[in-house]
Amino acid sequence: MYDVVVVGGGPVGTRVARQSGEAGYETLVLEEHNTIGTPMQCAGLVSPRVIEMTGTKSSVLRSSKATIHPPDGEPLVLDAGEARAAVLDRKKFDREMADKAVKEGVEIRLGCRVTSSRLENGRRKVFYEHRGEHHEIEARIVVGADGPTSVIRRGAGFDGPAYLLAGIQALVGYETEEMHIYLGQDVAPGFFAWRMPHPDGTLIGAATEDGQAFDHLMRLLRQKGWESKIISYFAGTIPLGRLKNIVDDGLMLVGDAACQVKPLSGGGLYTGLTAADICARTIIDAFENGDTSREFLSRYDDSWQDELGNEISKGLWLRKIFKTLTDKQLNDLIDVLNNDRVKQVLEGKGDIDYPSTLAKPVLKTAPKLLKFAGPFIKGFF
Ligand SMILES: Cc1cc2nc3c(=O)[nH]c(=O)nc-3n(C[C@H](O)[C@H](O)[C@H](O)COP(=O)(O)OP(=O)(O)OC[C@H]3O[C@@H](n4cnc5c(N)ncnc54)[C@H](O)[C@@H]3O)c2cc1C
Repeated sequence: MYDVVVVGGGPVGTRVARQSGEAGYETLVLEEHNTIGTPMQCAGLVSPRVIEMTGTKSSVLRSSKATIHPPDGEPLVLDAGEARAAVLDRKKFDREMADKAVKEGVEIRLGCRVTSSRLENGRRKVFYEHRGEHHEIEARIVVGADGPTSVIRRGAGFDGPAYLLAGIQALVGYETEEMHIYLGQDVAPGFFAWRMPHPDGTLIGAATEDGQAFDHLMRLLRQKGWESKIISYFAGTIPLGRLKNIVDDGLMLVGDAACQVKPLSGGGLYTGLTAADICARTIIDAFENGDTSREFLSRYDDSWQDELGNEISKGLWLRKIFKTLTDKQLNDLIDVLNNDRVKQVLEGKGDIDYPSTLAKPVLKTAPKLLKFAGPFIKGFF
């Protein structure tokens, strides 16, 4: 019998576990893989905010520059003059986060695949498989931090994400110092492709909704002559949308399992880690009040929505607009942005965690951009 069982040993789950352990509650993390941090799926691009909030030592590079490549035409080169993004070594980062949890007395069991969880006599039961054997344990609260396809979410009967994007990346054997974004129907319809530094070379990836991310990525690699330098591939899923339910009696979802992901970039580390702190605080409050009911735990959902719900909603609107743009419109869009006054706004106010805050000042500087919003503009403001 544990106070808290966290399903999933990713960075968000272990952050909740660390805080629960630190508060003196018996906490267990069940992770299906045999090693924390593998298989690696993420590009690891985060804001300096994430480095600060986690105190991580696994940052590979901090960068002030980004280049956005339209399908055709002049790239938009931005330089904020100070680091606005950092790249994490995700494997190391995940292990560092797990080690911190262990230091607070958290138990982590690896190779344990959770199959379901249900409420019995006011206690949460968790069922899992380990080396072919079935086990069950009890907890006062179960935290589903088991990623985009969460078994805990499905078991609770909650709706899943509105969109699931497939993301695929190739590790390529040459060095890159800055971040590059590629737009267009060829490379990533409805989303984008990227090239960014990695401790072992360069990560080049694409995410799309059309189920063809691998083909799009290969096209980009061939176009740029990077195909011969591929070392390995990584694949993953990006959940987008807003979930109606993320809590139940003795149950909370967090991170990708709760779809706490930025819709414009697919980044889920800042949002998930922020939600992890709120989730952990609510768990501690729930134990102090002796109330683990759905009503009490809903405070977590409310606080998380207060903190980031608005940004996610605006991101979803902007993504709706972005998805309608043809290659020609994307060329025109980058052309309008490629102007000293607009660049000054982008470089001065750009924030990868709150991209929607750029919308108003950029539109004020370049009202021509309104033509791209079409009928969607009403919902945004
Ligand atoms: C291609 C790609 C690129 C990305 N790039 C970025 C980026 O640059 N920046 C950024 O901020 N975000 C990025 N993301 C998103 C980021 O990876 C996630 O938001 C982040 O990993 C979420 O952390 P998490 O702990 O919620 O989930 P995860 O990291 O997915 O961890 C979930 C854990 O649960 C475990 N698990 C799953 N099911 C079970 C089960 N049944 N039983 C036991 N354990 C289970 C998994 O093995 C995993 O360890 C990217 C994602 C993809 C796919």
